Amino acid sequence: MNQKLKRIIRTSAIVIVLLTFYIIFAVNQGDKSAKNYPNDINTENKTITNQSSEKDTSIFELSEQQDTDTHSQNDAKNKNTDSEFSSDSQTDKNTDTNKKEDSETDSEHKNNTDTDAENALAEMIFPYNGEWNLIVVNKYNPIPEEYEFELTEMKNGKQVDSRIYDSLQEMLNAAAAEGIYADIGEAYRTTEEQEAIMDEYINGYIEQGYTEEQAAAEAKNWVALPGTSEHQLGLALDINGDGITTSDQAVYDWLAQNAYLYGFILRYPYGKEEITGIDYEAWHYRYVGETAAREIYFSGLCLEEYLSQ
Ligand SMILES: [Zn+2]
Repeated sequence: MNQKLKRIIRTSAIVIVLLTFYIIFAVNQGDKSAKNYPNDINTENKTITNQSSEKDTSIFELSEQQDTDTHSQNDAKNKNTDSEFSSDSQTDKNTDTNKKEDSETDSEHKNNTDTDAENALAEMIFPYNGEWNLIVVNKYNPIPEEYEFELTEMKNGKQVDSRIYDSLQEMLNAAAAEGIYADIGEAYRTTEEQEAIMDEYINGYIEQGYTEEQAAAEAKNWVALPGTSEHQLGLALDINGDGITTSDQAVYDWLAQNAYLYGFILRYPYGKEEITGIDYEAWHYRYVGETAAREIYFSGLCLEEYLSQ
């Protein structure tokens, strides 16, 4: 009897302890999830038509050599100090010698692979067929004039294509539920913003003593030409850590494993630089829909390869 009583007491104690842990854990998770939703719908839908701006000048001709997305590896780290629409590569200009060396190395690397990259890309024209989630935008495939979409604004003021909003929200919720707090650094960018970034770069180089022509050429190593950045579609996002509880790397790792479940792909994978024409970008995710995302994830192909199959 005494033994039985002891056993009952011991069992009850264990149950109470486990229950307490569970409650603490649940409350904690609840707090965290509540905390992370930077993206409550704060809707202000707009319809966007991609009309190329009159500001486009001949120096941005698509046939010209060398183009990258507007991100460099340094950007993620400096995102908080950059101006709202700054590109990743902006930091290259503003940073110290070490970082400049890094970017020079990048440029050399790009130059070495340039011919192959050009050849690979030159054959890949992807006419837009109305499948908005699979649209290809790069230096050989500018955004079609007639391409239209609506934007939804996130709580942090950034905008995305309304059609991807729910998936994005779901993905961020899932990450947060696992203690990964992500921050959307860049989302939709207007043509004018892309042009402003380009102009800023060109002016920066002119100030350094480059001629206008040289400055324009150099800027194109770092900034996507207006009309050829995926950010102008509202389908691409630069996702980093929140800088408080979650590191950039932790977010990149989580996204690399899970983003496809929500229809997003790592758009510029390592090893596919010659095809995408853009260096590996751990932070740049692109919505393609769940089916394509799953197939791309498991095949290891990049978007261009996937669509060329
Ligand atoms: Zn990006």
